[in-house]
Amino acid sequence: MQKKIKDFMTELVKKNPGETEFHQAVQEVVESVMPFIEKNPKYQEAKILDRIVEPERVIMFRVPWQDDKGEVQVNRGFRIEMNSALGPYKGGLRLHPSVYLGILKFLAFEQVFKNSLTTLPMGGGKGGSDFDPKGKSDNEVMRFCQSFMTELQRHIGPDTDVPAGDIGVGGREIGFMFGQYKRLRNEFTGVLTGKALSWGGSLIRSEATGYGCVYFAEEMLKTRGESFKGKVCAVSGSGNVAQYTVEKLFQLGAKPVTLSDSNGYIHDPDGISEQKLEFVMELKNVKRGRIKEYAAKYNCKYVEGRWPWEVKCDCVFPSATQNEIHESDAEQLVKNGCMLVAEGANMPTLPEAIKIFQQAKILYGPGKASNAGGVAISGLEMSQNSLRLSWSREEMDERLHDIMVKIHDTCVKYGKDGKHIDYVKGANLGGFVKVADAMLDQGLV
Ligand code: NDP
Repeated sequence: MQKKIKDFMTELVKKNPGETEFHQAVQEVVESVMPFIEKNPKYQEAKILDRIVEPERVIMFRVPWQDDKGEVQVNRGFRIEMNSALGPYKGGLRLHPSVYLGILKFLAFEQVFKNSLTTLPMGGGKGGSDFDPKGKSDNEVMRFCQSFMTELQRHIGPDTDVPAGDIGVGGREIGFMFGQYKRLRNEFTGVLTGKALSWGGSLIRSEATGYGCVYFAEEMLKTRGESFKGKVCAVSGSGNVAQYTVEKLFQLGAKPVTLSDSNGYIHDPDGISEQKLEFVMELKNVKRGRIKEYAAKYNCKYVEGRWPWEVKCDCVFPSATQNEIHESDAEQLVKNGCMLVAEGANMPTLPEAIKIFQQAKILYGPGKASNAGGVAISGLEMSQNSLRLSWSREEMDERLHDIMVKIHDTCVKYGKDGKHIDYVKGANLGGFVKVADAMLDQGLV
């Protein structure tokens, strides 16, 4: 088995040189599904694994725009249309200077399995640009978004490909992109999700990834007869996912004590309360300031240039970006008595660190299961747009909760090994089978 996996990966690396994050994401899935494929020759004969790692389509394009000084700037835009076996391509757009093909291919690949786990009819995709919205004026962001959408609009549509937000893409950016799409196509359709409520958005969409991650973690805790009451939680990031993770945590009686950004982290041992979270939301979503200002305002510790994994805690919610938990962080967390890791971010834990969590038999929920709440509500935003209706907040929250419980059930079904649940195997296999069967049904396409 190990040789088969190694040969497969050698070929993949040769074919996709330099795309290290993509290699990492594929390796994790292949390790889980290869033994299953070996036992089910129909997948092998149809070369499902070889096909599933190859995007159906990759679009790369120039994004020229003018800054406030009148100078011409050029960025690179991408959309990876990875797999449409289960429905239109669906997945976010990321605006961050680190964006290149390898990061977006890893995200699109993960998205295929995640979307399958939600049980909703969505294929997988991802896109974005190496544009950095940080430090740009609203007008500069608008000019960039308009130029980006001028090209992207040719490739997307409500029944083809429906992008959403991700790092660097929130309500402001979705608004600018939607406006440009509408203007060019003369159509008011559900081509993007994450829209504002008054023009086609869904209640609970902003909250969905963070809330969903905490709901998933709650199910994990229940398998050990535990709850969030009094649990000290470390959260990284301070963007969309982190903010609503913190909110749901304190609502369920836990004590979130950290937040971070790319400069450092704050540690507030008294806990981040509703009122303090309001300050964070204003700071990050409106003033676009740095998390350091929280420490000054609430007189707590700020640690420059580090992640919060050195803080003693019961539960961990990495909610910033890929590869933020390294082997030494995992060792430290386990040593400090951490019992649960639920990933709000995509692939935030390095493979060596995952091994440490798994050996220690702590509850470890991989992002493609635990952070699927965001795309699930996006899927329901698409349904509401098609129906030209909007469902209530309570209804959406209930649907989100149900979906997260079902995803947890799927992980248990495919990942239970005696008393222990291997959530990595559970999520990978649970996501894979549905996509693979749909690919078989649809013939060699
Ligand atoms: P935001 O842009 O709202 O926030 C991202 C946060 O992470 C910011 O605090 C940012 O700090 C920090 N961050 C980003 N990159 C880095 C880095 N390289 N090093 C250190 N800190 C970093 O993004 P989201 O909250 O939407 O996304 C966070 C994660 O969750 C991503 O992995 C995303 O793919 C994943 N995700 C998001 C979903 C959603 O619905 N939004 C759905 C599912 C997964 P700074 O401001 O300094 O850059």
